[in-house]
Amino acid sequence: MKNSTHRHSVFSSVDRGFTDAVSRDENRAAHGNICVIDTCKCGATRRINVNGTHIERGAWIVAVSQ
Ligand SMILES: [Zn+2]
Repeated sequence: MKNSTHRHSVFSSVDRGFTDAVSRDENRAAHGNICVIDTCKCGATRRINVNGTHIERGAWIVAVSQ
């Protein structure tokens, strides 16, 4: 595994409805509209709440395959 050097990047993304805060650093202005779910080639995912110009970006979460 090369996890120490791998930098996640957006391979594909889909828009979903807002469900919940995605970051501990909440931006309430970004809540209530859509949630973009980015997926990296390695399978990691990142959720971003977007509401107009307001953005709340979550951290990449590496999928555990066990
Ligand atoms: Zn990755």
